[in-house]
Amino acid sequence: MTEPVPALSEPLSALLEAGVEVPGCPKHMTYGPCGGVREDLGCEVEPAPCPFAAETGPVHWAGPAPPRRPEPALLVRTRGRPLVLTDLSVPPYDAATVRRTVSSLSVACDAILVGEHHDEPDFPPTMLASLVREAGGHPWITLTCRDRNRVVLEQEVAGLAATGTDGVFCATGDARAPGMRPDATQVFDLDGTRLAGLAAAAGLSVAVPETPDAPPRGNRAGRLAQKQLAGAQLAVLNHAGSAEHVAAFAGAVRAEGASLPIVAGVAVYTDEPSARLLQAFPGLELDQGRVEAVLSAPDPVAAGIDAAVAEARELMAVDGVAGVNLSGRGTSAGFDESTAIKAEIGRRIRSEV
Ligand code: SF4
Repeated sequence: MTEPVPALSEPLSALLEAGVEVPGCPKHMTYGPCGGVREDLGCEVEPAPCPFAAETGPVHWAGPAPPRRPEPALLVRTRGRPLVLTDLSVPPYDAATVRRTVSSLSVACDAILVGEHHDEPDFPPTMLASLVREAGGHPWITLTCRDRNRVVLEQEVAGLAATGTDGVFCATGDARAPGMRPDATQVFDLDGTRLAGLAAAAGLSVAVPETPDAPPRGNRAGRLAQKQLAGAQLAVLNHAGSAEHVAAFAGAVRAEGASLPIVAGVAVYTDEPSARLLQAFPGLELDQGRVEAVLSAPDPVAAGIDAAVAEARELMAVDGVAGVNLSGRGTSAGFDESTAIKAEIGRRIRSEV
């Protein structure tokens, strides 16, 4: 348990406008809070209150307006039909598996969301974008602020702009778990909102995450609107439990004045470990009834695929939702099995929804 959140001596916005660093955020965020705030409004990293969580509204974007950019190619390619984005699940530092996986997923999905994980560092983002492109995929490359300082992020953004990527997904990033790579520092020179501004200024198509179910829930829609002002053109949501919940969140985002299309998360799991992995993320909500129905089915793989397609159908009916992201490993059986499951879900969504 963390201590109750004390009020800051001045409003957070006043501290930011005065150029005073907000005390108490281990990720040095300006445009907080991150998605890891605990239910008691405590910090995800340290046993202390999150200073952003006591605020009644989002921190307003104070950086430059982003340059005018074309509509992301992903939205142009999928106009008038469901957009299907998929996570890439591959072992790190394995170019052959990246090529094989992308080649299979790209016939069923419109773009590949290449993640960045605190426990599995991988090839540099610019190299991963090239591998995905060479295998016939459209890469959306995740950049986070944990392992790269500002200069290195500028280098990656410039490299991606020069060599080509469908877009970048700008996130603050999880803090590394205790004991994970204690020989390496955690940087956080920037946060996800400022990184979105940096990538937009380089002319890249920019997506950002938001977690509707992470506390403080009342600030999440406004926070996404501020990310659009920084340069975001697309939002990719973490799982929010139900289509009704996503609809309420999408309405709140519009009420905040934001117009960016929303890609909703579809949970892909077909066994207990793959469901448990998704449920381990803070702020991430799965439909428990659906999870139990899949895991107790005679054929959990077929049931998991059916459940994902059904969830995609419900989400695609929500006003403001442009598409879905197939999220999670899908199975603990292996990477090729995971790819086959996601490819089948993508194929069925594109043909049935
Ligand atoms: S929960 Fe996130 S935003 Fe809040 S203090 Fe901790 S690291 Fe910073």
